[in-house]
Amino acid sequence: MSALRSLLVLAALASFVLPIRGPVDAPRHQAPKAVRPPVAAKRIALTFDDVPRAPGAFYTKEERTTRLIAGLRDAGVAQVALFVNPGRIAAGDGAAERIAAYVAAGHVLGDHSFSHHDLSSMSADAFLADVDKAEAWLKGRPGYRPWFRFPGLNQGGRDQAKRRMVHDGLAARQLMVAGVTIDGSDWYMERLALDARQAGKPIDDDALRDLYVETMVQSADFSDALMRKAIGRPPAQVILLHETDLAARYIGALVDGLRRDGWVIVTADAAFADPIYHREPNVPSDNGTLSEAIAWEKGIAGPLWYERTDLKVAGALFEARVMHQPALAAMPAPKPVALLSRASARRWKCAARHGRWHRRCGEFAFTTGQSMHSGIAS
Ligand SMILES: [Zn+2]
Repeated sequence: MSALRSLLVLAALASFVLPIRGPVDAPRHQAPKAVRPPVAAKRIALTFDDVPRAPGAFYTKEERTTRLIAGLRDAGVAQVALFVNPGRIAAGDGAAERIAAYVAAGHVLGDHSFSHHDLSSMSADAFLADVDKAEAWLKGRPGYRPWFRFPGLNQGGRDQAKRRMVHDGLAARQLMVAGVTIDGSDWYMERLALDARQAGKPIDDDALRDLYVETMVQSADFSDALMRKAIGRPPAQVILLHETDLAARYIGALVDGLRRDGWVIVTADAAFADPIYHREPNVPSDNGTLSEAIAWEKGIAGPLWYERTDLKVAGALFEARVMHQPALAAMPAPKPVALLSRASARRWKCAARHGRWHRRCGEFAFTTGQSMHSGIAS
C-alpha cells in the first residue's frame, strides 16, 4: 500500500517537473498530451500596460519598441497584449507607428482608457465616455481585441454601485474586463532605475536584471499558489507588466526565468479564454488583481498579494541589491494593540490578518503619503 502510494507520489512529482511545452513555446510534436495533463501546467500570458509609456532609464521610445519586439521574437513568444492609452498618442510623435510595429510582429491591442484616469476620481458616465474615446482610436485597427483594463486596476474601490454601472457599460459595449492575476509592480522598479539614472548614480545592470526576473517569477508563483487554493486548479494566468525599458532590456531573461520555473508562455488570446476572466468577484472593494479578489471572495487566509508590491519592500531590495546601499530601515513593529485607540486597534488587527497594511483595513497611513498598492501605476 505504502509502496503504491510512493509510486503515485513519484509519478505526480515527475509530471510536475517534466519540461512543459505548449503551442507557443515549441512545436506540438515535442509535447505529447499524454505526458503532461494540462491541468497541472503553469500557463502565463504577458501583457503590457500604459502604451505608449514615458521614457525610462535606458532607451528612446523607438529603441524600446524595437528591442521589446526583438526580445519577444527571439524568446519565441508569439503574442502578448498591449493595453493602449490613445490619449498619450500625439500626431507625428511616432507612437501610432510604434504600436503598429507591435501588431505587425503578431501582438494584440486592448483598451486601457483614453486618458488613464482613475475610476475613483470620476463618475461612471465620465469614465465610460473616456473608454469610448479610446475605442474610437482602437476599434477597427489590426490587432484590436475587445478587452478593457482598468487604469490602476481600480474598479471604483469601495463604490460597488459605480463598479456595477461601469461593468454594465463595458458589457453593453461588448468589452471584456481584461483582468490580471499576477502583479510584481514592475513599474516601480522602472521608476527607481530612472531616478537613479537621473541622479547620476551607477546602476548594476546584472543585479537589476536578476532582481527584475526574480521578482516577476516570484509574483507569478505567488498567484499560482493562491489560485490553486482559491479555485482548485491552475488557471491561465495573466501577468501585468508595463511597456518599460526594463521589459525591453530583460524580456529574454524574464521569459527564460519563467520557463526554467515551469511556466509555459501562452498567447493573450489563450489566457483570456479561461473562464476566470469572466468572473466578477463579489468583494466589498476592488482595486487590485483578479486573483486577490477571487481569493478574498473565497475567504482564503493569508496575504492575498505578493509582498514586493509593497513599495517599501521593493524600494529596500532595489537599494540593497542594485544600488549596493544599505537596505532601508525595516518596517517598525506594530504597537501593542492595548496602546491604540479602538479604531486603530481594529486596523492593526486587520493588517496583521492580511499579512501587511492594506487599504481594506482603513486609511491608516503607514507609508509617507504614497500608496503601497501595486495598482497605482497600472
Ligand atoms: Zn496603467
